Amino acid sequence: KQLVIAIDGYSSCGKSTTAKAVAAALHYAYVDTGAMYRAVTLHLLEHQIPFDDLGRVEAALHELTISFRRNRRTGRNEVFLNGVNREDDIRQMVISNSVSEVSVIVMVRHAMVAQQQRMGRRRGVVMDGRDIGTTVFPDAEVKVFMTADVVVRAQRRQVELAGNGEQVALDDIIENLRKRDHLDSTRAESPLRRAADAVLLDTTHLVIDEQVDFVLERVSA
Ligand code: C5P
Repeated sequence: KQLVIAIDGYSSCGKSTTAKAVAAALHYAYVDTGAMYRAVTLHLLEHQIPFDDLGRVEAALHELTISFRRNRRTGRNEVFLNGVNREDDIRQMVISNSVSEVSVIVMVRHAMVAQQQRMGRRRGVVMDGRDIGTTVFPDAEVKVFMTADVVVRAQRRQVELAGNGEQVALDDIIENLRKRDHLDSTRAESPLRRAADAVLLDTTHLVIDEQVDFVLERVSA
C-alpha cells in the first residue's frame, strides 16, 4: 500500500535530507514544500511586488508555475519557476531572510497547499515542510516532527550554503533560523506545530542514516 509520509519541523533540522533518502528507499516521490514558498518569494522579489500588495500577489500567483524535475546527472530534485531551473537561487540567504514573511500570506498558503494536495493525491509520497501533517495531509499514515539544537542546525546550514558558494557567519544563520521558527510558529494560518499523532525526532546527536532508519521503521511498523 502506498502511503503519505509527512515530515515537519523547524528550519534546518535535516528534514529534506531525510525525506529524500526515505523517498529513494521506498521509490516514492519527494516533494520539498519549502522550495515552493521559496520560489514564490523569489518571484515576488524579482518583480518587486510588495508582500502587502495583495492584488499584485494574487495576480503573481495566477501567472507563476512551480514544478519539480529530477536532475538525471545529480539525482537531485530541482525546482523550476515558470519552466526555469531556479534551484540554486532559492537557497540563497536573501530568500531565507524573506520567505517566512511570504509564507504568512493566506492566499499564498492556499495556493501552495492546493498544489501539494494534488501532487500527493495518488499517495506514495514523502513531503517535508511545516504543516504537512496538520493541514496538507492530516490523514498521512506516517508523521514525523523534527527538531534539533539551533547551533547544530546553523552549523549544518552553513556547510550547505558554502556548498552553494555562499559564505555566511554562524551568528547570521542562527538569527535567521530563530526568526523563521518564530514567524512560522506564530502565524495565524496553519502555523508550524507538531500534529498530535506525529512522532518526535530530535536530530541533534544523529547522523543521516539514523534519521532515515527512524522513519523507515515507522513505515514498516
Ligand atoms: O523548508 P525550508 O526551510 O526551505 O522552508 C522555507 C520557509 O518556507 C519556512 O521557513 C516557512 O516560512 C515556509 N514554509 C511553510 N510551510 C511549509 C514549508 C515551508 O510555511 N510547508
